[in-house]
Amino acid sequence: MRVEYCLRVISEEEALEKILSAVPSSPPTEVFLGDALDRFAAADLFATIPIPPFDNSAMDGYAVVAESATKDTRLKIVGEQPAGISKNLSLSAGQAVRIFTGAPMPKGADTVVMQEETQREGDFVLVRTKQISEGDFVRQAGADLAIGQQIIKRGDRLRATALALLASQGIRSVTVGKRAQVAIVTTGDELVAPGKKLRAGQIFESNGVMLAALVVKADAKLSMRRHCRDNFDDLCEALRDATQYDAAIISGGVSVGERDFVREALQEIGAEIDLWRVAVKPGKPFLFGKRDQCRIFGLPGNPVSTFVTFLIFVRPVLLQMMGAAEIGLPRARVRLGHEISGDETRPHYFRGELKDGQFKVVGRQESHALFGLARANALLRVKAQEKLDAGSEVEVLLLD
Ligand code: AMP
Ligand code: MG
Repeated sequence: MRVEYCLRVISEEEALEKILSAVPSSPPTEVFLGDALDRFAAADLFATIPIPPFDNSAMDGYAVVAESATKDTRLKIVGEQPAGISKNLSLSAGQAVRIFTGAPMPKGADTVVMQEETQREGDFVLVRTKQISEGDFVRQAGADLAIGQQIIKRGDRLRATALALLASQGIRSVTVGKRAQVAIVTTGDELVAPGKKLRAGQIFESNGVMLAALVVKADAKLSMRRHCRDNFDDLCEALRDATQYDAAIISGGVSVGERDFVREALQEIGAEIDLWRVAVKPGKPFLFGKRDQCRIFGLPGNPVSTFVTFLIFVRPVLLQMMGAAEIGLPRARVRLGHEISGDETRPHYFRGELKDGQFKVVGRQESHALFGLARANALLRVKAQEKLDAGSEVEVLLLD
């Protein structure tokens, strides 16, 4: 049976639920911290050492007993404690130890007077600080992080700072979700690779590079990229190859035109088509299916449709495959700069510019209008028949 006779147009919510209902996940892998940026932690991690590990000085200066270090007193210098080794020094009231940032506090000292607030006089140091409180400029052991405290949650994206935190615990490698491997197939007889000569009726192929960039931004791995003419046999071959990976993203050829062969080609290679056509603007001809472990996404070829359907349907799946806890785009509550009316029948994703807390649509809002899209930094989803007034509070999806 031809696919169009058995699949009805479904809502965006229903589509997303179907798509996310059975996302396969691969076994996690262990990687060195240097290779772990933007990967997703596969397990919760807890501190095994306190941070700081020992009481130490926050300044270059003098370790003292606060009580005996009042303004204009002279303290006898009884030693020097550099960072990096513990000299096991100790001192008592009336004495000081020359100390440096990060150096362990001598026994008996409870405070550091910063160098700028002192005057060195041979074996003595003159305290010039007006007021000293016990504990000043001392970094207490465990004050930042105690043993047993959670440092990473399963599904966290490992940012530069998280990697530093792991390193500060002496950790060299971390278990993360496997990077999803993605194939991109662009289709269309009218499309020419940038750099080649454009003939009458042709346009440059631009979805390929955009999708590749979006895949990389989603922290997945681009494993195959191919352009295919609107030729049934070529398409079958490209789709056989593409479905060897975790996800196959096809651009164009999923609509109802005579030369839109993607559905038939998918049937030919034995893929299952789970849904075709979603009530969303742009992006209605969107298709989702499976072949073995591969999740297949047929995105309508108009650049804005490709972009929007990637973000709402493909990105969450890639992130879920890789074990990410947060699979949606970041959101912000902002003010609407002007009134907006939604589409009659479908939710509409408006492309706009978010500036100083205010969202305004930018450029033409048709699905081929790439220029406006390229200037947009946020998307606003307006429900079917919804009317929003200027100045109303709305939630937008943030693009980067
Ligand atoms: P299709 O989904 O194949 O019917 O294509 C819809 C529209 O998007 C047509 O105007 C195509 O020329 C255009 N289009 C399709 N694929 C691409 C692509 N890879 N780059 C730029 N435009 C495309
Ligand atoms: Mg086409």
